[in-house]
Formats: sequence, C-alpha cells, structure tokens
Amino acid sequence: MQTHAYAYAVPVLLLIERETDDRPSVERLVADARDVLRVERVTSLDAGVKRLREPGIKGVLLDLLLPESRDLSSVDELRRVAPDKAIVVLARASDQLLARRAVDRGAADYVVTDHLDARTLCQLIAMMFQRRSLEEQRFVERERAEVTLNSICDAVVTTDITGNVTYLNREAEARTGWSRFDAFARPVMEIFDVMDGLTGEIAQNPARLAIEKRAGVGFEGGFILVSRDGKETAIEHSASPMHDHRGKIVGAVIVFRDVVVSRDRSRQMLHLAEHDALTDLPNRLLFNDRLTRAIALARRHQRRLAVLFLDCDRFKHVNDTLGHEAGDQLLQSIARRLTASVRESDTVSRHGGDEFLILLSEVDQPGGAAQIANKIIAAVAAPHDVAQHEICLTASVGISLYPEDGQDAQTLIMHADAAMYDAKAAGRNQVGFFRPAADGWVSKRSSIESELRKGLERSEFRLHYQPTIDLLTGAIAGAEALMRWEHPARGLVPPDQFIPAAEACGLIVPMGRWALGEACRQAKAWQDAGLPPIPIAVNVSALQFRNAGFLEDIRDILQDTGLDPRYLELELTESALMVDVATTSALLSELKRSGVGLKVDDFGTGPSSLSYLQRFPVDVLKIDQAFVREIQPAPEGAPIVRAVIAMGKSLGCRVIAEGVETRQQLAYLKEEQCDEVQGYHFSPAVEPSAFEGLLTRAPWAFSSLGG
Ligand code: C2E
Ligand code: MG
Ligand code: MG
Repeated sequence: MQTHAYAYAVPVLLLIERETDDRPSVERLVADARDVLRVERVTSLDAGVKRLREPGIKGVLLDLLLPESRDLSSVDELRRVAPDKAIVVLARASDQLLARRAVDRGAADYVVTDHLDARTLCQLIAMMFQRRSLEEQRFVERERAEVTLNSICDAVVTTDITGNVTYLNREAEARTGWSRFDAFARPVMEIFDVMDGLTGEIAQNPARLAIEKRAGVGFEGGFILVSRDGKETAIEHSASPMHDHRGKIVGAVIVFRDVVVSRDRSRQMLHLAEHDALTDLPNRLLFNDRLTRAIALARRHQRRLAVLFLDCDRFKHVNDTLGHEAGDQLLQSIARRLTASVRESDTVSRHGGDEFLILLSEVDQPGGAAQIANKIIAAVAAPHDVAQHEICLTASVGISLYPEDGQDAQTLIMHADAAMYDAKAAGRNQVGFFRPAADGWVSKRSSIESELRKGLERSEFRLHYQPTIDLLTGAIAGAEALMRWEHPARGLVPPDQFIPAAEACGLIVPMGRWALGEACRQAKAWQDAGLPPIPIAVNVSALQFRNAGFLEDIRDILQDTGLDPRYLELELTESALMVDVATTSALLSELKRSGVGLKVDDFGTGPSSLSYLQRFPVDVLKIDQAFVREIQPAPEGAPIVRAVIAMGKSLGCRVIAEGVETRQQLAYLKEEQCDEVQGYHFSPAVEPSAFEGLLTRAPWAFSSLGG
C-alpha cells in the first residue's frame, strides 16, 4: 500500500538511452535521489514513444547517441508525441554543437555527460521541472486573462511604452473594426481613432497621458470613436499605465465602452431584475413594490384596491403529459390573456410556477373585482394553441381587498392565496373572496393533505352507490360509485370537500385506485350473490387518468377481482378529456379495447368541442345537473337539455340525465327520449347494503315513478 502511493507521488523521468558503457549510468546517478525522482529507462526511440503515450511521465532525458538523434528527428518526434513534456538532451562534450541545435529545435536544455555527477544531474532535472511548471502556470494565467478580457462588455486595448498596440480584446476588435493581427504594433491612435464629440478635434492620446502622468486617467462621455470603416460610436474611456514585475512602466491599457449600449444595458439589467424571464411579467419584487405604492395611494385617497391570486387548475398535467416546453408556452399564453384582461394601470405578475398575482389598483365595489376575476377565468379557459395541441385548462382565483382584508402587501397577498385555495377546494374554476373565518381545515393545505394520507392508511374511505334508471324499462340500468370519507372527527364527509384537495396534492391517484378496486370487488360480490348484474361506474380524476400506470391498474384490478370488463364503466369529466386531445384519444382507445365502458361526466359544463368528442370512443354522455335543474314546466321545457340530448344521440351515445329530482323533470326527459336518469327522485347514493335492497326489488319498481 505504502509503496504504491509512494510510486505515484514521485515524478518519473523517462530515459531514452543507447546501450553504452563508456559513461556513468544516469540511472545509477539518480539512484540516491530515489526519494524525489524515479527513472524509467528504455533503449530505443520507438520504446520511448510507446511509453510516452501512456500516462505517468513527467519529463524526458534523450541521449544524443541514439541513431535517430544524429539528425535530431528524435527531438521532433518526441515533441510531437508529448508536446507538454520537457526534453533534456544528454550529450558528450564533443556533441555540444548538436546539443545546442537540439535546444533550438525545442528541447528544454542539454547536459554534458562527460564528467557528470549525481548532484549536477539532479539539480538540472529539478530546474527543468520548475521551469515547466512556471510555463504551465503562465499559460493558465494568460488563458484566464484572455477569457476574461473577451467575455467582458468593455473594449480593451493595450500598448507598449512607445504607444504602439500590443493587444485588443474581442469587444475592441468589434468597436474599432481592427483585428488584433492588423492592429499589432501600429500607433494606438490609428486604431483608437477618437475625436471630441463637440469640437470634432482629435482627442488626446490616453495611453500617452497615462504613461506620462504615471497614473490612471478617465474621460467622461462626449467622445466619438471612428471605426476603421467610418462608423461612429459615442464612447467613454479611461487609461492606466501597466507595470512589469519591478514596477517599471512598460505600456498602457485603454478601456472604453459604447455609452448608448451601456445605458441600454443597465436599463436591460434593471428590467431583468424586476421581470419574470419566461413571461416578461413583473416578478414578485416589482409586484410587491407596486402593491405597496398602490396601498399608500389608496390610503391617501380613501380608495379600495384588490389583489387577485390566480392558480391554474391541474397545470401539472400539462407539464407531465406534454413536457415542460409546452408548459412554458402555455404559461406565456396565459400571461398574455391576463394582461389583456385588465387595465393598463393594473399589474399582472407571475408569482412563480403556475401562480399569478394581479393588482387591481382601482375598484369601487367588491363586485367589481369579482367581475374582473370572472372575466380573467373565462379568458384563461378558452382553448390555448400550444405545441400543436389545443389545451384547455381552468383557473381558480382568490380575491383580497384593501382595506377590508389587510393593510399591507404581505397580508393582502397571503389572504388572496387563502381565498384562492378555498375557491379551489370548492371545486375549481371559481372565484373566491377572502373569508376571515374560512374553514381552517380546508384552507390549510398541509393539514388536509396529511389527514387524507392518514385516511387512506386507516381505510376511512367508503363507496356509496347511486342507481341509474333505464327510462324504457324502469329498471336499474347501472350504478355510480361515489366516494365518502368517514372521518373520525367530522363524520361522513362528501367528496366535494376533499376530492379537490386530493387532486391538488396528487393523493387522488392512490385514492382513485382504491375506489376502482373496491367498486370492482363489490360488483363481483353482488354478481356472485346472484343479484342482477349491472355495470358500476367509477369516477376517474384527470390526474389519475393521465397517470402512467392507469391502464395497467385497470387491467390488474379486473384480473384480481375477476370482474368482466363490461361491468366496469369509467366516468371522466369533459374538462379532463379536453386537456390534451391527442393523448386522451389514444388512452380512450386503449381503454375501449380492454372492454370497459366510457362515460363523459358533467357534460355541457366543460370546454368541450364536438369535433373532438366525435373522435373519442365514448359510450355515454351524462348531462350535468345544472341543465336538468333548468327544466321548466311545459311548454318551455329546457331547450339546452333538448339540444344536449340530440347532440349526444348524434354522436351515437346513450344519454343520462343527472340530478333528476322532480316528476316534472322526469317527464320532460322521457319525452325528449333521454335514455337513463339518475337523481334523488329515485334514490340518493346509498351504502352497499341499502343498494342491495334496491337491486333485489322488482325491475319495474321505478317505472311507476316515471309518471
Ligand atoms: P358526479 O360524478 O357528477 O356525481 C354526481 C353527484 O351528484 C353526486 O354527488 C351525487 O350524490 C349528486 N346527486 C345525485 N343525484 C342528485 C340529485 O338529484 N340532486 C342533487 N343535487 N345532487 C345529486 P357527490 O357524491 O357529492 O359527488 C360529487 C362529485 O365528487 C362527483 O360528481 C364526482 O365528480 C366526485 N367524486 C365522487 N366520488 C369520486 C371518486 O371516487 N373519484 C373521483 N375522482 N371523484 C369522485
Ligand atoms: Mg360522476
Ligand atoms: Mg356529474
């Protein structure tokens, strides 16, 4: 172990030496110095070259008695193979002339071997190493200076003591129009052709001034540089003397910059510091600043202002499914829409990620802020053309008002955030005002998340089942599985109070997987118990649908439970389907192939496009309750419901109406030839045991209710 480390620590010299016994062996001479030096010996140039191609050699001792050394081709060859290694030539006294020529050809030095003793040889080798490392160091320093000089925005010209150019950096080359090569050794004022901007007189030579004064000289703007091709640039410049290591002045360095460009640049820097690079919207910093000022103004004039906190719903899916580049483009598109939705005097800012802050500096009534917030939500909801996809997404907006909800920027932003979170929890795509006494449970993101996690671990979730009724036969045509949370402290919690939060934190994926498994298990158990087989519909969240393992989950669950796929139906909301039409289409086709049924939930509420729906292999459209609620007594009826039913039929789908509560609604739906109905008029969602009771009733049980 010891020897190993030692062998690596000591520099190795390669000795290329002809077999000879008429002089002291170099190997033997350095033997005493083995603590600081090791010699590897080869006896031909070829062997030497071969060894040099491998690592570990620090320098070369080359014997001039080698046949290839007589015409010095050995030196050329070694320099070619190992340009970074020092070569020291070993020569007899009679070969000194040849040795000097070897040095001219690139060898570092030569040693006369006639009376060579160990001490001289070791000293020589030490010097050779030292010189090499100095050269390396100087090279690194020169490189560093060069890179630095070429990456700064200032132009740099150096001169020797007589004022002739020795160097130009790239910026100086660009500004003067002179290449470093052409400029070399010319009088500096030929290259640095500067006149006084006011008088047009030729400016003083700053290099000469600096050398004469032995100090730096600076000139404000007001000078014009004329480039080699006659282009004029307003500049400011300075010059300083350069010294050698003894402190003697050896030349001067002139530094100059384009005044306009540098002014633009500092303006640009300021802009960058205050704006978001992706959307070019003001960033938090600038937003805070503007909000603080706006609050001061509002206070003075006793006016109101509003802070809107906008968060995109399910933005993560876009990133996950279409990639970050598409996500970025979508954010830019959203930013443009936001800016277009507010007044010039308002500020739209990107708060980070998919969150935006909007300052409405003049609002008279809270309703005014809500109106703008709704306008913003609508603007965001219109389809975005991004990366050859038509993307639809919604947003949730929280509003806080000055002076009601806070007196300073920080508080207003925080309260707008809380209001946004409430809006999200209330089902997304909504506007919410800050409520000081908002249910702390829902507003605190982290607490509900950890509660949900616990709920999942402790199996606190349940499925209730709500029947759908076939309007022709009056029989139960199917059931929808609806999740409930049996919270130890809060009792039975309805899904609207926890599904949005579960979606926001991603827990919906394992929760949804559980629901699928449980529904299939239950369906199979009912069938095995001899109850009439009906399909069970399970709600699938967009996030779950797009989750990589979804298809596999479905297959596994069907296999594990042994349920025939045709008794499982998936309910997907319209907005979930429209996130990315191409991917949706592919996924749905896969699902269709596996034999499960596909339903579009809440039909009519989302950003749907018939042409897309046509391409999706869906079986059932579920008309949203909101439309059913609009059904009026005859003769008005509900034109939208009628249109939606007609539309569904034209797509070749069965149509189910949700939320049917009254006899009137039922009658109308029957008349319009809706296929199935679901609603409190028949039964709410009930526990499995109660649902069994419904299933065992005679198939005509509901028909009498049909009226
Ligand atoms: P949804 O899928 O549209 O389910 C229909 C909702 O309407 C259910 O509310 C149901 O109880 C209710 N409903 C049924 N008939 C009537 C009626 O006549 N009148 C009225 N006013 N309401 C009626 P629920 O159970 O509270 O579920 C709400 C939403 O939560 C569901 O809407 C669905 O989007 C979501 N959800 C429920 N379970 C799950 C689940 O397992 N996974 C996912 N991802 N979402 C679920
Ligand atoms: Mg549903
Ligand atoms: Mg629905």
